[in-house]
Amino acid sequence: MQIIIHRGIDQIGGCITEIATENTKILIDLGQNLPDGEGFVNDNLANFDAIEKITKNVDAIFYTHYHGDHIGLFHLVPDTIPQYIGKVAKQVALCKHKRLSFIKGREEQSEKEIAKIEAMLSFDYDQTITVGDIKVVPYFVSHSAYDAFMFLIEANRSRILHTGDFREHGYIGKGLIPTIKKLISKDGTIDFLITEGTMLSRLDQRVRNENKLKIKVKKLMKQYKNVFVMCPSTDLERLATFHAANKEIKYRPFVCDDFQKDVLKIFSDSAGKKSPLFDFGEPYSFWKENNKLIQWMQDKGFCMLVRATDKFNDYIDFLLPLLEKDKTILIYSMWKEYVNPKSKHANKKYLEFIGKFPKVSKIHTSGHASADCLAEVCNLVNPRKGIIPIHSENSIDYKKLRIKQELKEKVITESKEIDDTIIEIKRTTNSQQYNI
Ligand SMILES: [Zn+2]
Ligand SMILES: [Zn+2]
Repeated sequence: MQIIIHRGIDQIGGCITEIATENTKILIDLGQNLPDGEGFVNDNLANFDAIEKITKNVDAIFYTHYHGDHIGLFHLVPDTIPQYIGKVAKQVALCKHKRLSFIKGREEQSEKEIAKIEAMLSFDYDQTITVGDIKVVPYFVSHSAYDAFMFLIEANRSRILHTGDFREHGYIGKGLIPTIKKLISKDGTIDFLITEGTMLSRLDQRVRNENKLKIKVKKLMKQYKNVFVMCPSTDLERLATFHAANKEIKYRPFVCDDFQKDVLKIFSDSAGKKSPLFDFGEPYSFWKENNKLIQWMQDKGFCMLVRATDKFNDYIDFLLPLLEKDKTILIYSMWKEYVNPKSKHANKKYLEFIGKFPKVSKIHTSGHASADCLAEVCNLVNPRKGIIPIHSENSIDYKKLRIKQELKEKVITESKEIDDTIIEIKRTTNSQQYNI
């Protein structure tokens, strides 16, 4: 068997993992490098030639979730290769790309991307997918993208657990340890653990869970009448935090644009059927001529989801003069470094956008597993042969986790051969080092 980390060692994002037997070859994720603060993507694999090479003889591609750093190069994949993604994740990806198709000059590109997503095969939790002599079982995880999965891969009598991006501190995250205990450890040992390590650079950082976040948000909503929220538009759990907090302050409309409304509808129709927390009901669509809604917003206050785009800049320029300054706040709920002017990760658009508001409060918790959670998962999985930490700025830091000494010795960040498994670790130089 062969495990090739095409990309992902010592870099966050742009993840590509290959697992191959003599007869079958699959890829887990085909991600694009994350953009820099100006929105520019530097990616030497983002072209047909490079993807043709990397996907040569590949029998299937499995995506852990819909974030661009895991799925971003899907449109370059030849039509002959099946691409698999979660059922709801597919709907969200489709919704996002349909929205992108409205951008001038992007129509043709979007049309091709939409056709590729429509052709993707989808899977559900716990369903076994067999490709040649490789078996893949997806297990549901909590992450800042909904319908995210870790994969258990069985090939040549070896068992590999590829975690994708995950966390324990989201609402859905409480299922993480029981899932690993019941469904994975019980059925036999894991040989290799391929795991994310985003938070390795923040070993001592304690993470707040979504519930605590909700309490803080509610407090702010009581204090301020007009609440704008800047959070990722496809992070189900964060969106639920704001929706639930707003629901408790009576008579205030939950406002967003049509795109966000479409995403929320997908979430309500899927996760919302399992828990009322994820049922967003009927959010109100904002447009400048929607006088009835604007009147209501002025009377009772509101919670409005916004993004740093031209459209929302226009909306905000229109709305802010109509509102009392001392009763208006923007809650910024994304990684703080994007709006730290001194940071190398600073995002110009975000900084300009948040600069418009009279008051900004930063409330966020990571979409990724804390160091303690990474250690807990590693000790529990207790892989027999090796641990390959990807999606981390400095993969070797995985050894600094509170994991058993014998596991520290199994951390792999360089190419090597273990029994009948060849592990090849490729390193690229043109990546942006980003945390999410
Ligand atoms: Zn990622
Ligand atoms: Zn992600």
